[in-house]
Amino acid sequence: MHSIHLFNTLSRKKELFTPLHPPLVGLYVCGPTVYGDPHLGHTRPAVTYDVLVRLFRHFGYKVRYVRNITDVGHLENEMGEGEDRIAKRARLEQLEPMEVVQHYTLRFHEAMQLLNTLPPSIEPRASGHIVEQIELVKEILQSGFAYKSGGSVYFDVEAYSKKHHYGQLSGRVIEDLQSNTRTLDGQSQKRAPLDFALWKEAAPEHIMRWPSPWGEGFPGWHLECSAMSAKYLGNEFDIHGGGLDLLFPHHECELAQNIAARGQGGVRYWMHNNLITINGQKMGKSLGNFITLDELFTGNHKLLTQSFSPMAIRFFILQAHYRSTLDFSNDALVAAEKGLKRLQSAAKAAAEISVESSAPAAPELQQYKDEVFNALCDDLNTPIALAHLFEVVRWVNSTVDKKGTIHPDDRALLDTLLVQIPTNILGLRDQEQDGSDGKLLNGLMEMILEARSHAKARKDYATSDAIRDQLAALGIKIKDTKEGMTWERG
Ligand code: ZN
Repeated sequence: MHSIHLFNTLSRKKELFTPLHPPLVGLYVCGPTVYGDPHLGHTRPAVTYDVLVRLFRHFGYKVRYVRNITDVGHLENEMGEGEDRIAKRARLEQLEPMEVVQHYTLRFHEAMQLLNTLPPSIEPRASGHIVEQIELVKEILQSGFAYKSGGSVYFDVEAYSKKHHYGQLSGRVIEDLQSNTRTLDGQSQKRAPLDFALWKEAAPEHIMRWPSPWGEGFPGWHLECSAMSAKYLGNEFDIHGGGLDLLFPHHECELAQNIAARGQGGVRYWMHNNLITINGQKMGKSLGNFITLDELFTGNHKLLTQSFSPMAIRFFILQAHYRSTLDFSNDALVAAEKGLKRLQSAAKAAAEISVESSAPAAPELQQYKDEVFNALCDDLNTPIALAHLFEVVRWVNSTVDKKGTIHPDDRALLDTLLVQIPTNILGLRDQEQDGSDGKLLNGLMEMILEARSHAKARKDYATSDAIRDQLAALGIKIKDTKEGMTWERG
């Protein structure tokens, strides 16, 4: 078996990965706060940790992959102030908060399926773990690293940093943080600006609220991951992943909570994927460059000249190392789409090459395979792995050009390199082949609608209505407009 090395954010170096309880690998990844449509920013952690899970499973590990859904406590301001993001959306849309949560959780799942990411083994929600979170607050209070204030409980960063190192994960220096944080106004219940809420007293108008020993309130955002990771993976577990945007304050606070409550950090390897920029800028609603996945899949966005398939987006993400920044642009996606096509065409071409037992063996294929696995096991270096796969693509294309044949042993190697690794480990489906690119459906629908137009033209309304009704039964709605017929699902 290959040895896997991973970059550990905590030690700031690559380390040999050894699971605590082999063959089990415990992986916790911070999931989305479900208050809006899935967007480009969701794709990178989704694909990165999906490849990690697939790689572990390929090597025979059993992965318990826990990815949470944040449905309470994530306030608008990252430092823990402002309105709850879910509650705000519920207020704006006049929905129950749990309707917002359900709607956007389903949207997120759809997007994850389109991106061909494997579902987590457990997907706990913060609102389903209030009891565990209250217990954790009690433990931190008992250890002396938290204080009550009104109906809230805050983590005491100063008391903690006298005994432990607040900032050890993110590399932030507490003195700098203190001088860079604005001072508290008279309204705040906190003693110091860096303190963060473990439990927050609910104002009378706050809708998401639960009883607690400190009064009615709701948990602070950082608390859920400390509570749920320990519940499902134990007080010590293998890997905690998430986006670099979560490193501070979210993960720093999570680590501090773990140490305060249990005396140990609990996470053996911290992993962080870097972020996606758009034409060199951070993505943000205020910058007008915010792109949802729907907009990417339909091409309906001013920065896009065409629609892009989920697999083109997946390939685009794999072309960069997960710890590097990745700059998104229409052109970069067009290039990714072409690259993916070249890889998948070579797989088809390779399957057509004739096998002959007299053909000479190609030792370089075994070497490519080793290099691909070496790259993947070297902190998930997908761009290097892809570079080696493209050496195979060139090998196949030149063999086809020469009308060459291959030795029987090389047939299996080519299958591993161009089909098994791209599909099973990199998660790149051939959407043209399995019909999930929508082309097959679009083509069939065009045929059916044309048949219905012909029926209408010859006044055969029985047939035209029957087609409409049968499609409706399949969940496809057709609409007659001036320009002709259109269709949509659902
Ligand atoms: Zn988290």
